[in-house]
Amino acid sequence: MAATPSPSNAPLSGRHRVAVIGGGSAGISVAARLRRAGVTDVSVIEPSDTHWYQPLWTLVGGGQASLRDTHRPEASVMPDGVRWIRRRALAVDPEARTVTLSGDDELTYETLVLAPGLQLDWGGVPGLAEAVGHNGVSSDYAPEYAPRTWELIRRMHSGTAVFTHPATPIKCGGAPQKIAYLAADHWRRRKVLDAIRIILVIPDPAMFRAPAWSQVLEKVAARYGIEVRLNSEMTAVDGDAREITVDDHGNGTKETIGYDLLHAVPPQSAPDWVKSSPLADPAGPHGFAAADRHTLRHPSYENVFALGDVANLPTSKTGAAVRKQAPVAVGNLLDVMNGRSPSHRYDGYTSCPLVTARDRMLLAEFDYDLKPAPSLPLLDPFKERRTMWLFKRYGLPPVYWHGMLTGRL
Ligand code: FAD
Repeated sequence: MAATPSPSNAPLSGRHRVAVIGGGSAGISVAARLRRAGVTDVSVIEPSDTHWYQPLWTLVGGGQASLRDTHRPEASVMPDGVRWIRRRALAVDPEARTVTLSGDDELTYETLVLAPGLQLDWGGVPGLAEAVGHNGVSSDYAPEYAPRTWELIRRMHSGTAVFTHPATPIKCGGAPQKIAYLAADHWRRRKVLDAIRIILVIPDPAMFRAPAWSQVLEKVAARYGIEVRLNSEMTAVDGDAREITVDDHGNGTKETIGYDLLHAVPPQSAPDWVKSSPLADPAGPHGFAAADRHTLRHPSYENVFALGDVANLPTSKTGAAVRKQAPVAVGNLLDVMNGRSPSHRYDGYTSCPLVTARDRMLLAEFDYDLKPAPSLPLLDPFKERRTMWLFKRYGLPPVYWHGMLTGRL
């Protein structure tokens, strides 16, 4: 891998063999694997000079990791021999096979990998965009706020703390409740838990999509005395009054809840330019990109693949899912480049490290059928373990930086 590649200043004219939009978890994993397979002329379109390891943001919010541990220069993860185009993709025309870029440029591709992640819609809940970062409101979903979550948790000794999960697909479906457990365990250790009312607002009829873990999480929430509002959604925030509105879709009621601490996860959707492109899945309500659930190829454009958070796949959007999707996308892309039909299949594998205490974790691994798919079949996957927590905090980051992003794992 290159020491520090810099963005390419070469003209963009000419046809690019493979263009990858997004240099996040999915884009870099794919680019690294393509280079390992000997593919030349791979371009990564990525405007940011910083690469983030987002799974640690939950532990930043919980006071167990520093924001410093969660990012590296984008140049340090860009695979050797890849052309880094430091621009933003603004539009794709899959008929003409072009990508419009910021800076008034256009690029032509033979094959396209769509991996720009998703968009946080802070404006999707009235009052949230104005309140986040002030008024006792924070969110682990953005690096500028995650350290503030810990400040709010640390300073709280009594009152009401509300943790919300929006009614859209989100990255890491467990993250809205993991931070509630980290906070509750901190307050328990400080012996103030009895003075704090904790409310967890969840849009679904159960605590977790995979039923087997839902039952375990019900017990975890009960252990901390957390009030769980199922079928419910935060629909407004009044930061000045420190109040939120919660709609209970189960019984059709609306409630105003006063809070001292609010951890809000914003609604999420595909980036606007993906939503308005022919690559968006017309069957999905949030504009995510269409992709065959097994081959990851676009159903209408055979030279386009989508993976990661942007893809409309019926599984949980996680880095762990990306780790399994990247080899499939690359294998099938090579098939298509060589005139073969896609032969690699993704089974929907995803995993969610459910941190349930400051030193305990459950690893929920499942596939499209929501059936447990444990990587370590001899371990009971429904048991909270300290070793799992240690693995998330200290084992997974090096696996990510040195294994996944280099295309080795
Ligand atoms: P990203 O990694 O977000 O990368 C997208 C990239 O595209 C970015 O570099 C961005 O700059 C770039 N981009 C955006 N727009 C454009 C554009 N127009 N043109 C070009 N480039 C663009 N996953 C787990 O596996 N385990 C966990 O415990 C876990 N916890 C999480 C906790 C939190 C709080 C969060 C926020 C996420 C968590 N995740 C977890 C999810 C995981 O981080 C994502 O699923 C993963 O990063 C998705 O990879 P991606 O490449 O699709 O998107």
